[in-house]
Amino acid sequence: MTLDTTTHQTRDTLDLPYRHVTTHFINGTYQPSHGQDTIEVTDPATNTVWGSVPVGNQDDVDAAVNAAHTAFTTGPWAATTPTQRAETLLRIAEEIEARSTELSLTNTLENGSPVAETSGAAANAASIFRYFATLAPELETDDVRPFPASTGESLVRKDPIGVCALIAPWNFPINLMVTKLAPALLAGCTVVMKPASPTPLSFRIIVDAITAAGVPDGVVNLVTGPGRMGDLMVRHPKVAKVAFTGSTPVGRHIAAACGELLRPVTLELGGKSSAIVMEDADLEEMSARLIRSCMRNTGQTCYISTRILAPASRYEDIVDMVTETIAAAPQGDPLDPETVFGPSANLSQYKSVLEHLDSAKAEGARVTTGGGKATGELSDGLFIQPTVLADVTPEMRVAREEIFGPVITIMKYTDLDDAISLANNTEFGLGGLVFGSDQEKALEVADAVDTGSVGINFFASNHAAPFGGRNDSGLGVEYGPEGLAAYLSYKSIHRR
Ligand code: NAP
Ligand code: MG
Repeated sequence: MTLDTTTHQTRDTLDLPYRHVTTHFINGTYQPSHGQDTIEVTDPATNTVWGSVPVGNQDDVDAAVNAAHTAFTTGPWAATTPTQRAETLLRIAEEIEARSTELSLTNTLENGSPVAETSGAAANAASIFRYFATLAPELETDDVRPFPASTGESLVRKDPIGVCALIAPWNFPINLMVTKLAPALLAGCTVVMKPASPTPLSFRIIVDAITAAGVPDGVVNLVTGPGRMGDLMVRHPKVAKVAFTGSTPVGRHIAAACGELLRPVTLELGGKSSAIVMEDADLEEMSARLIRSCMRNTGQTCYISTRILAPASRYEDIVDMVTETIAAAPQGDPLDPETVFGPSANLSQYKSVLEHLDSAKAEGARVTTGGGKATGELSDGLFIQPTVLADVTPEMRVAREEIFGPVITIMKYTDLDDAISLANNTEFGLGGLVFGSDQEKALEVADAVDTGSVGINFFASNHAAPFGGRNDSGLGVEYGPEGLAAYLSYKSIHRR
């Protein structure tokens, strides 16, 4: 059967490249795992197992890191120029695009992200590789910096930092790894990657694209296993740099290890972002943007603004608009191209979202649509009804903790100062939104929000602009030249 993402596919007959595998990708080949256990891959829409990967152990991590280290210190990759590496990145982009459909369907079966979302994953990954390829000229020559107050100059070299350990979560398993991999490769680094346990298969398709693009053996390595494998990677003596996207508690744990080791680390962590709706906001326009910017990927996107802050003067209109928009978006089989809301990605997430809904009801939030498990046909899978919670107050658990599910909360504010203080009343600092017609005023409000990124009337991450979290949302940034810098080791050579 030909794979397709434009018509509703039947899951059992899908001819996917990977289902049950027993290997890791090390030194250019798929090699049997040293560990005996396996991790099952479950389709959250039907709650059935359809794949499995091996759980690696210390021997697998050693083999992968050693391969990356040898490729870094003695392999052909180290001898290439940034421009040659950029040409490889462009070939990788083409090879990924050629695998777009199988990537999309594998990703959808792993984490329930609707095909409307995952069918763009290959194009997005390709565009990240293409963007970083444009930065090759920045690496091609040393900066020459005269001493400001005396004679002489310094050559500023931008060396690749070394072997990088890259660890990604399950919500966007392709994008959040490629965001690290593309700059690492352009810089001249080599990598060992570990995908999240619920989504271990789709990235193998990216690895195949990389092999087809002619990346030398050992430059890119992929192992699978639980968090413990990530821990072994983070602490491995031959690893020079760690890049992690995931939850704040695991991020803190990794930061502690890297602190002890004095090992550079980039952390992209959780969020609890707000959409400040100004009095002059165009609600029709906001309705059109609402799902993408506040509920993307069934609410499982780190930067989305899941707390709507509404002015008292328009509060009920905003509650009505948000409720109608969310209630009208179809929930169903993520393989159906019409589906907007899929299931929760995995059982622990599903339970955690239901717990948050219970706490909201107990604390007095008003459910205007949804509110619990989906019923009927969807009750076999991990589906939670898309939910709007109105009359939420700052002390409620749903106002403070990341829910990471199809749940929007609405809070009332008195004036813009109140709105800004509600938005900043969180330990997180990742994203945010301002909806308003007065662009200048909206920009002032965006400036006052204490986060790494804020959107005005829409939100999208821009590969050319730094993306990162403040406070408990992370350390360092990805994307842009600033994101590339995380994979460089600077060296100044002074001369007269
Ligand atoms: P997670 O539990 O922190 O896991 C993330 C990754 O770390 C997984 O590959 C996980 O492996 C691995 N891991 C777990 N324990 C580890 C340890 N001790 N040492 C090293 N690695 C370890 O996060 P998640 O549940 O997959 O993802 C959801 C979270 O990611 C949310 O909080 C979300 O906000 C955040 N997120 C942030 C961004 C951002 O850019 N800021 C983007 C997307 C998501 P296993 O899966 O095998 O446990
Ligand atoms: Mg987890």
